[in-house]
Amino acid sequence: VSTSFWCEWAWLGDPEPSAQVRLDVEAGRITRVAAGVPDTGSAHRLEGLTLPGFANAHSHAFHRALRGRTQSGEGSFWTWRSQMYELASSLEPDGYHDLAVQTYAEMLSAGYTTVGEFHYLHHRSDGSPYPEPNAFTEAIVTAARDAGIRITVLDALYLYGGISPSGDYLDLEGGQVRFSDRSGDAWARRLNAALDLSGATTRFGGAIHSVRAVDPESMQIVADWCRTQDAPIHIHLSEQPAENELCMAAHGRTPTGLLGAAGLLGSDLTAVHATHLTDGDVAMLGSAHATACFCPTTERDLADGIGPSRRLRRAGAVLALGSDSHAVIDALEEARALELNERLATLDRGNHSTEQLLEAATKNGYRSLGWPTGGTISEGALADFVTVEVDPDPRYMLASAVFMTTTPIRCTVVGGVIRFDAR
Ligand SMILES: [Zn+2]
Repeated sequence: VSTSFWCEWAWLGDPEPSAQVRLDVEAGRITRVAAGVPDTGSAHRLEGLTLPGFANAHSHAFHRALRGRTQSGEGSFWTWRSQMYELASSLEPDGYHDLAVQTYAEMLSAGYTTVGEFHYLHHRSDGSPYPEPNAFTEAIVTAARDAGIRITVLDALYLYGGISPSGDYLDLEGGQVRFSDRSGDAWARRLNAALDLSGATTRFGGAIHSVRAVDPESMQIVADWCRTQDAPIHIHLSEQPAENELCMAAHGRTPTGLLGAAGLLGSDLTAVHATHLTDGDVAMLGSAHATACFCPTTERDLADGIGPSRRLRRAGAVLALGSDSHAVIDALEEARALELNERLATLDRGNHSTEQLLEAATKNGYRSLGWPTGGTISEGALADFVTVEVDPDPRYMLASAVFMTTTPIRCTVVGGVIRFDAR
């Protein structure tokens, strides 16, 4: 299927956007980019600024149902987690599908074109498998196709209920039993069966829920699976100080240090949150060129803290962004928060350039999710892009897209197909 788009303005990676850009698209990819050409009968006319599509590198679709119900009052990450477990206990695959369709449709309306679904809800509420062991995975993949968003399912291994203050792994309890495959090998077998659901807009990766939920030996099973499949690896890392303390108690290392000792640090690894890091952690993640996926709207909601985004980037890490709990679904809010939070933490402005913030929102997320040709407007790239309303002066166009308090999304295209259209 071939089609064409004519963009009034498009960001091709230069400091300023290019005017009058024609994009030819075939079989879901951009086959030709021509700038400075008047519109002569393209199939779709996109007025405004067209950017590469936004990548939501960290999502738990079902957390969307907690929006507005867990934000007020006191409590902590850990009390929020109890509320989330209660919701997780009540979900079945059909209901999950419907919830995920809504969440993904909302993402498309916010300009997200791909999502990394960090997926750990696998089994019945008593922990036993469904007759189809990937019933939830199938619900998620079908929801993404129904909504029209590109997806990488990051299937998570989850084995323990946490770590005790004396450093022992705890048994799963209550809501957690649904998350566990009981062993790394069983996780790999289930995930191998899920690969049948792969397709042009569906990929799989592996995830280690956290150092609290997986022991180092079992982490190795996830790493081996991912490296055999050439698939990305994700892990929640150092979101809360308590995780660091428990990891030190169990292993005498920080969570990042534990990953380093297990040989997991590499450019295929995405550390989600990466909030409470030592200087040594920053250096290790940087020299490995790992991705650090910040989720600013969730991290502020859960009082997690502000991670060292500037130090990570300068050390060599790659920054990506996710909306995680979906208390907010707004890709550009995440991008500007990366800079604005860093201003509050460092008392400096200009920690990340506008282009760097846009790269975090686009191609860095695609890389993190195993779509290395996505997140740019270039020949051969995935035909995923979004058109936004901006300041008409090209000198301010990019900055206005990132820093305006609301950036209206006009049109979202995934694989050359218009999936959201507000025009
Ligand atoms: Zn998460």
